Amino acid sequence: MIAAKGYAVHSQTDKLAPWNFERRNVGPKDVLIEILFSGICHSDIHQVRSEWGPAKYPMVPGHEIVGRITEVGSAVSKFKAGDLAGIGCMVDSCKECPTCQGGQEQFCEKGETVWTYNSVERDKVTPTYGGYSNKIVCTEEFVVKVSDKLPLSGVAPLLCAGITTYSPIKRWGINKGHKVAVLGLGGLGHMAVKFAVAFGAEVTVLSTSPSKEQDAKKLGAHNFVVTKNPDELKKYAKYFDFILDSVSAPHDYEMYFKLLNVNGVHICVGIPPVPIQFPGSALMSGNRALTASSIGGIEETQEMLDYCAEHGIVSEVEVININYVNEAYERVLGSDVKYRFVIDMATV
Ligand code: NAP
Ligand code: ZN
Repeated sequence: MIAAKGYAVHSQTDKLAPWNFERRNVGPKDVLIEILFSGICHSDIHQVRSEWGPAKYPMVPGHEIVGRITEVGSAVSKFKAGDLAGIGCMVDSCKECPTCQGGQEQFCEKGETVWTYNSVERDKVTPTYGGYSNKIVCTEEFVVKVSDKLPLSGVAPLLCAGITTYSPIKRWGINKGHKVAVLGLGGLGHMAVKFAVAFGAEVTVLSTSPSKEQDAKKLGAHNFVVTKNPDELKKYAKYFDFILDSVSAPHDYEMYFKLLNVNGVHICVGIPPVPIQFPGSALMSGNRALTASSIGGIEETQEMLDYCAEHGIVSEVEVININYVNEAYERVLGSDVKYRFVIDMATV
């Protein structure tokens, strides 16, 4: 086994604290990665606090991982030692079912998607530990190539916040001529703005934080609306073709459906830990649709990273020492992050 160190919680009320553990030895198809940067996703906080059903402890969170490969197994063909590499929300799946073969390993039909942490390996026993750590071992099929053209701290969040917003924007063909609202300007929201703008859409940020207006405009948004102000919202009644909803907390869906044009689509990527509720008529009027999107497959993640390298797109980050992680969580919960915390893993 390989000795590793990271930060873990041991219960849902625990603070993150240093923890030593072991990674498996490098198998024939595995690579060993020295983790350089690890992003803090709001999903880490939901899971640390067991908000999505019983969590597995000890838990080392982190699924926005960028690092350098230090060792490769005998049958590895995609990578060599010294290469930059990334890992997102998944580290394995059956790879054989039609859905895995079709590039959506997050929905493996055999239920064998292995999440980067708070999960078990395909043996259904061995726990997985995430990116708030100094090294990780992963099959090369779930590792993506990272360009050296971009600052690595800004690349780490692309592995979750990036792919989670890029994927639905591509799937729904969001493009020039579309009016898109991005609901919530946090880690996912700010990447949604960057991608929708890059694809040519007219982008409006709907935010609870008046202080984010200047930043939204700098990110390329055309309009900024404070959602706490009903009069301002009314101006956008039936205005949008799409709403990309990245809000992490309970909120009023019906209020936002009213902003959709006829046939408009509300795409949920945020995962509030409560059931979604609204009257049946809320969508019916105007043939509006409600849909959702879960991360993106490995091939599409690579496509997104290549697109970002070509177009100079990275996440806006605040790089922190790992001993600041508990404060960073509190700031994320207070919507006080511009726009992703990224841990410098040299500080572990
Ligand atoms: P984040 O950085 O905390 O951003 C969430 C934003 O939502 C906040 O910055 C805030 O923006 C807004 N917000 C917060 N509380 C709100 C409230 N009560 N009402 C309205 N708006 C509120 O979180 P994130 O990392 O982007 O993640 C967002 C959500 O997506 C989380 O639930 C996360 O678990 C989920 N997620 C889903 C996937 C997927 O595959 N679908 C992948 C990753 C994450 P303003 O200040 O602008 O209002
Ligand atoms: Zn995430």
